[in-house]
Amino acid sequence: MLSTGLRQLGFAWSMLSGRGFRVRDAMALADDVRATIEEFGSAGDGAGDMLSAPDPEVQDGLTRRRLRRTVRNAARHTPYYRHLFERIGVDPASVTPDTIASIPPTPKNALRSMPAAFVSDRARPAMAAQTTGTTGIPTTVWFSQYELDITVATGALALMLTAGLRSEHVWANCITTRSIAQYLEGRSVPMAGAGYVPIGPVDPRVALDRLATPMHLPGKRPQITHLNATPSYLAAIVQEAERDGWTAADFGLQEIHVGGEILTDALRDRARELFNVPVTDGYSMTEIIPVAGQVCAHDHLHLPVDLGYVEVLDPVTLEPAAPGAVGSLTITPFLSYRDTTTLLRYVTGDLVRVLPEAEKLGCEMAAVPATSRILGRVTGSDLTTRDVLELLQAERALPLPTRYAIEETGDPGGPVLHVVAERASRTLSARLEGRVADLALPLSGVVLVEDPADLPTPCRVRADLREHTFHTVPAGRSA
Ligand SMILES: [Zn+2]
Repeated sequence: MLSTGLRQLGFAWSMLSGRGFRVRDAMALADDVRATIEEFGSAGDGAGDMLSAPDPEVQDGLTRRRLRRTVRNAARHTPYYRHLFERIGVDPASVTPDTIASIPPTPKNALRSMPAAFVSDRARPAMAAQTTGTTGIPTTVWFSQYELDITVATGALALMLTAGLRSEHVWANCITTRSIAQYLEGRSVPMAGAGYVPIGPVDPRVALDRLATPMHLPGKRPQITHLNATPSYLAAIVQEAERDGWTAADFGLQEIHVGGEILTDALRDRARELFNVPVTDGYSMTEIIPVAGQVCAHDHLHLPVDLGYVEVLDPVTLEPAAPGAVGSLTITPFLSYRDTTTLLRYVTGDLVRVLPEAEKLGCEMAAVPATSRILGRVTGSDLTTRDVLELLQAERALPLPTRYAIEETGDPGGPVLHVVAERASRTLSARLEGRVADLALPLSGVVLVEDPADLPTPCRVRADLREHTFHTVPAGRSA
């Protein structure tokens, strides 16, 4: 395939130079790869190398170049950073990975309160993406047509070359149809040749019915093969499927992909048990597109280095977190992918643990830098969202999705955990308190409530972004 080879060269050159891509080349390359896979069964030797990292020395030079271009561009063309660089008196051209700390990190509330100040003067804004706002007021991020197209094309390449998506597959999204991820996947999945079904976060019974219903489409598997959802919506589906007696044999699923919230071991195991398919956990966020991470078989979160500059900063001092310490993922998406809403050192607020220095990566993704999985936020005395969710989701008597609140009472033993249960009983709270003690969690007590409205603070999960349909399905398996 001569054209593929030439296009790969052009694409590789764009990646190496850190300059913008030619959208036409990227789209045509995705088309070529799809056609090659359809004709020969694979993209050919070395095709996967297009998306993998070159040797560390080359990589280091690339990172410096990409970072320099990104910082210079932001300082010249983005109002927020133009004022910032004037104020701090730092020469943008001098910034390297070693001196990046000379740029103050960008807090989330700066972008949230003045989104237009982060849009480049030279940009051609085409589409606004709003974050869901489950953790606060929504944030607006503008994207240009170039950004959307290049993300779609590279997304299609990754789906084909890394995730193994093929034209026989059918991919269903149960994420909110207002999200940018829904728009991007709605274009990149078909570009990879697969079928795309935007189900949305509807009544879980409706989603199960759609997953189970045969489709009779030419060239496609009989049922939906891939499901993409947030962990809380997956939890809602698992709960409904267990109640209504669905089993893996009712579905044609091959893989489940989740992201946007914490996936616990407990929920992953329960979903695997029910659907008998692997559950792939990923990390992404509207503000930092196209930077995205993936969890490996050893439970690291791997974040590739060629899409943005990744740091882990102490949540209080905003200095680099030490090996073994917890810090906030802080991301600078590179200019080649982001020319509209420009962000330098954006503090995501999502906590991870820096891997201990002695830990050698022995997993299938060892070439890509890694941290721990996302721990969420710290609630109370060193207690993370993941700690609480692992505790609660391991208890099958509690309803899914899990709802809880942490209340600081001044007790030296730690805060009180309020949890929504279907039936509050002394036995259940004693069992949970026993596990709190076994895990040595800093909590002074567990209080069960039967109505979410009785939690001291509201517990919002993405599964609550429910979309209505006129399609209703009675309780129980309909197949
Ligand atoms: Zn790993």
